[in-house]
Amino acid sequence: MLDQQQQRELITKAGLRITAQRLALVKLLFADETPRHVTAEDIYTQANKNDASMSLATVYNTLHRFTEVGLLHEVLVEPERVWFDTNMHNHHHIYDEDTGILTDIPAIPLSEMAVPYLETGKQIEQIDLMIRVRSQPTSLNP
Ligand SMILES: [Zn+2]
Repeated sequence: MLDQQQQRELITKAGLRITAQRLALVKLLFADETPRHVTAEDIYTQANKNDASMSLATVYNTLHRFTEVGLLHEVLVEPERVWFDTNMHNHHHIYDEDTGILTDIPAIPLSEMAVPYLETGKQIEQIDLMIRVRSQPTSLNP
């Protein structure tokens, strides 16, 4: 759990000015040590449940700004829905299509596989691996 001083430092060390909205979102996002995956809508709902009332647009803008400065990582689950990840370590994801739950899995050395296919002068910027799962259909012929 970050104390107030640490919350302020997180913002200023990322090169951002402290605003009431940024502080409120940092408090929600980094409430405990466990990495979190959230959508802007989740955070919007939580912020307004607490006393920090702000528009969904403000939440979006702030989360995108946090991503630009490296406080968050964007995870593309569906084209119309971006998740924000507080885990900045190199890792991959399993997405459960039934429950909508996103789970972290450790990074595996995929870069070695990709290197032979890279054009000269290109380097790997980032590797995003999303494994999508759903429950097996129950067998019709037992
Ligand atoms: Zn993650």
